[in-house]
Amino acid sequence: MVSETIDLLKEELPVAQESLVLSGDFNTGLVLVDIVNGFCTVGAGNLAPRQPDKQISGMVDKSVKIAKVFCEKKWPIFAFLDSHHPDVPEPPYPPHCIAGTDEAKLVPALQWLENEPNVTLRCKDCIDGFLGSIEKDGSNVFVDWVKTNQIKVVLVVGICTDICVLDFVCSALSARNRGFLTPLEEVLVYSNGCATFDIPVHVAKTTKDVTAHPQELMHHIGLYMAKARGAKVVSEVSFDMLKDP
Ligand SMILES: [Zn+2]
Repeated sequence: MVSETIDLLKEELPVAQESLVLSGDFNTGLVLVDIVNGFCTVGAGNLAPRQPDKQISGMVDKSVKIAKVFCEKKWPIFAFLDSHHPDVPEPPYPPHCIAGTDEAKLVPALQWLENEPNVTLRCKDCIDGFLGSIEKDGSNVFVDWVKTNQIKVVLVVGICTDICVLDFVCSALSARNRGFLTPLEEVLVYSNGCATFDIPVHVAKTTKDVTAHPQELMHHIGLYMAKARGAKVVSEVSFDMLKDP
């Protein structure tokens, strides 16, 4: 997509972004959405990037940096892993992130999280991680995580900005508004810690059954929709180490 079109759309659909300083004064939880090989590692599967992708590798780098600080401070992290039974398709998507394969595992730069005591991993077989957190008995692992850790703010990173990140954020906001997530107050989306995939228009036009999904535009629209539903979008996250609890 030509950059003038993107600039024009960003003018028409502006997303004001803030800077976030985390100080430990209030309980913050980090939510990682689907930072798995099947979506992030080149050549890993049907929905993985075909070639190195700056937006996706940038998202992974930012997520690793933030996750390291959260682990040092022993602050809670909740990581969704897209994970599907081989016999249960997820239309409209081709088979991806089959349970037990490398596709459904955290990217190499985040695999150490599996052994961290402050990390809750949640395999999910649907787009919306909030729904994917519901257990057979009706309880919700994400809701329990918020309550157990008395989380007031969640910071969301991951992939895809306009799909799994957006759907999770929208559901979390609705659940908060209905009083299911007390004491949660804010849902923050870290724009530079999110990414989506790229199918340029010219590729879609020449490929059967493929819909265009221009990366920069859809990333922006994902952020716009999240903000429109009540999330805050932050473009920078820093840590105020002086105020350590
Ligand atoms: Zn999936």
